[in-house]
Amino acid sequence: SSCRIPPDSPLPHDDDTAPYDVGLSRENATILMLARNSDVEGAASAIRSLEERFNRWFHYPVVFLNDQEWSEEFREKVGQEASGETVFAQIPAEMWGWPVDGEGREWVDREKVKDAMGRLSRMGVPYVDNENYHHMCRFYSGFFQDHPALKPYKYYWRIEPDVSYTCDIPYDPFRHMRLNHKTYGYSIALWEIGSTVPSLFRTVTTYKSSHAIPTTPLWTSMLSPSWAPLPLRWALMSDARLFHSRTPTGDAWSLCHFWSNFEVADLDFFRSAAYRSYFAALDATAGFYYERWGDAAVHSLAAALFLAPAQLHWFEDWGYRHPPFQHCPREGVGCACACDRREGAVPETCLRQLRRGVDP
Ligand code: GDP
Ligand code: MN
Repeated sequence: SSCRIPPDSPLPHDDDTAPYDVGLSRENATILMLARNSDVEGAASAIRSLEERFNRWFHYPVVFLNDQEWSEEFREKVGQEASGETVFAQIPAEMWGWPVDGEGREWVDREKVKDAMGRLSRMGVPYVDNENYHHMCRFYSGFFQDHPALKPYKYYWRIEPDVSYTCDIPYDPFRHMRLNHKTYGYSIALWEIGSTVPSLFRTVTTYKSSHAIPTTPLWTSMLSPSWAPLPLRWALMSDARLFHSRTPTGDAWSLCHFWSNFEVADLDFFRSAAYRSYFAALDATAGFYYERWGDAAVHSLAAALFLAPAQLHWFEDWGYRHPPFQHCPREGVGCACACDRREGAVPETCLRQLRRGVDP
């Protein structure tokens, strides 16, 4: 089968050689879950799945982050599922909440937020009227990498309540990332809801030109798909056509982006001066609040600005499910997969489009 157990895997080998003792050689990495106390059941089931398919062999630590104090119930029920060290930490107020200026004063126009959110929520856009969802997106866009609980680590693997992994993962993805000089690993790509990001791409494009950032292949592959037949394009871009203006250069973003509830990535990318400056430029427009910019789009556009194709990695061999979508490896790829490719299929054209600009 295609399921190759590498020599440095702690899983049993076919040829009877002793499994590798991973305890001595874990990478400088952690699993990361942001959750609410009310996510306890979904969080426990996600960690159970992670353990069954990966961590029972590797015992990586799990860092749990919450804007509120953790409940005893969450710590106990979720903590007991993990086979490695667990850390339950709270997010400091300055990383979660309305942005403040140099004097510590909030400057976002809350009336303007209310109007914008009312408009979007009447249009049926999910989560816009939930303040905390905006804070969450902003936290994951610009602050998570600096949370004290993540300070010791170079790599993280993001996990969310209610996700599951549907194939065995018999190797260490962090080691794979390090040895292959990978920065950002993804699973699923989807089209963003255009009305949540009307001015995001214009803001990013302006940043790109004012900082003279050269165009990468991933950037190019994120532009509106001029190769698509016109009716399809119209359907794909209808959000964008209505709400999301083209840039002065005439470029438009196809809205395709990596779905960030799955990420295996290098924290140092998000800690780099370039990324910080990019985030500050976005944050200064309050687009996280006047619109509903998501961390998935923000991370993806940063990757498109700053990363070379070879720094991206598609975990094609991992089965991954975040309802209502999943990635299920095709025949011959992945280990002991238990998923059905027909369920929760994502539009393949989006991923195919992005993959023209990533690891060849
Ligand atoms: P979706 O994937 O965009 O539908 O959004 P989710 O509801 O899955 O939220 C994304 C992540 O943020 C998940 O890990 C949630 O548990 C977490 N999250 C969302 N809102 C909050 C919040 O208000 N507080 C905390 N602590 N976590 C949140
Ligand atoms: Mn989610």
